[in-house]
Amino acid sequence: MLTCKDVAHRADALIDGELTGWDLLKLQMHLALCGACRRFVDQMRVTRDISRTVLALPPEDLKGTEAGRIDSLLSRLHDQKQHGGS
Ligand SMILES: [Zn+2]
Repeated sequence: MLTCKDVAHRADALIDGELTGWDLLKLQMHLALCGACRRFVDQMRVTRDISRTVLALPPEDLKGTEAGRIDSLLSRLHDQKQHGGS
């Protein structure tokens, strides 16, 4: 039986469809029993979809799009972090 740590390590390969046979089966068995890992993999899939969308677009196309809003939100969060501490 895989541990949650094993699943976390293999989540990338799972999302990329690189797991096959017994590896895939073991992971799916763990996901069937473990809600925490299901949520983890779901979240990771969403995050990767977003970053793929952002990376696929040239920067000038991002303005006014959903990705552009996320981008400016992230840089605002980054600024807050930098000005917040010390
Ligand atoms: Zn788990």
